[in-house]
Amino acid sequence: MKRILITGGAGFIGSHLCERLLNEGNEVISVDNYFTGAKSNIVHLLDNPYFELIRHDVTMPFFIEVDEIYNMACPASPIHYQYNAIKTIKTSVMGAINILGLAKRIKAKILQASTSEVYGDPKIHPQPETYWGNVNPIGPRSCYDEGKRCAESLFVNYNEQNNVRIKIARIFNTYGPRMHPNDGRVVSNFIVQALNGKDITIYGDGSQTRSFQYVDDLVNGVIKLMETPDSITLPVNIGNPDEFSIKELADKVIEITGSKSKITFEPLPADDPTQRKPDISKAKEILKWEPKIKLEEGLVKTIEYFKKTLSL
Ligand code: NAD
Ligand code: UDP
Repeated sequence: MKRILITGGAGFIGSHLCERLLNEGNEVISVDNYFTGAKSNIVHLLDNPYFELIRHDVTMPFFIEVDEIYNMACPASPIHYQYNAIKTIKTSVMGAINILGLAKRIKAKILQASTSEVYGDPKIHPQPETYWGNVNPIGPRSCYDEGKRCAESLFVNYNEQNNVRIKIARIFNTYGPRMHPNDGRVVSNFIVQALNGKDITIYGDGSQTRSFQYVDDLVNGVIKLMETPDSITLPVNIGNPDEFSIKELADKVIEITGSKSKITFEPLPADDPTQRKPDISKAKEILKWEPKIKLEEGLVKTIEYFKKTLSL
């Protein structure tokens, strides 16, 4: 049994990670300030005596004894991370400094939830880990993108200077049950709109692409990455390389829900990446991992979840 700290444990991805690691027989401690997370995401775990909740903001230092740390705390959807851009930067940067300092002191292994956003609006397609990205440092997405890029830099430097055992997962668009229904992300938006019979809002002409990964595949990937030898310190893409245009996604959601919703087209937000698809050669080689769940299958599960939670 390991003792594992998950920052952002009450969030969408963090809650699935808490559940899986508890089911595997570990002791799990969630640290969260509940900005975008919710107790309802983890309430079903609370009668497990090996699960503990701490309400805390990672921009402030804290002390605890654990074997491993998954650093997931950070708002992830554009409307949430832009709500207080300075706070988002603080969460990524000061959060990383505090958690890395803790890892250094207690000699814990630590994994950073980085993001495909470090590639910005990529000029290389699909994106390998060796690509340095195309990020606007002063644009509306920069608080998130640059915060995560700085966190990666902090991770590699704590490894090089202080021998902290680090892992960096570059996570691509992930969806599934417990996504926040109002966080503006495309999968949850389209599903909620379709289930309510409201217009499906495509930003731009819908030709921009994303590669959507079901949350269970992601959880498998990050746990495998955490278990790699200490020599593996460079970032690894964790995503599903099946690429879809946003229009294709809208059509699939309408088809699966059987909704009568119509599609409307709204302006594309500034700096919205035109394409995104992971090159997962490295994950396949190092982790012997690749995603298993096709978009249709994952959408069916996610739609079921939203039907239940929205009582539709
Ligand atoms: P989420 O918003 O559901 O979860 C983030 C969690 O962090 C929430 O529970 C929130 O309350 C908590 N949090 C935020 N700021 C905090 C702070 N200062 N102190 C303590 N807790 C704080 O988002 P998610 O989709 O579950 O994303 C989890 C992580 O994965 C994030 O770091 C995100 O950047 C990364 N990621 C997610 C995706 C995706 O598609 N969902 C893609 C790439 C990377
Ligand atoms: N998007 C859209 N309609 C929506 C929400 C998002 O067309 O209601 C688009 C958005 O402009 C982007 C893509 O879907 O091109 C993915 O958006 P999301 O916020 O989910 O993820 P990210 O842009 O961070 O990859």
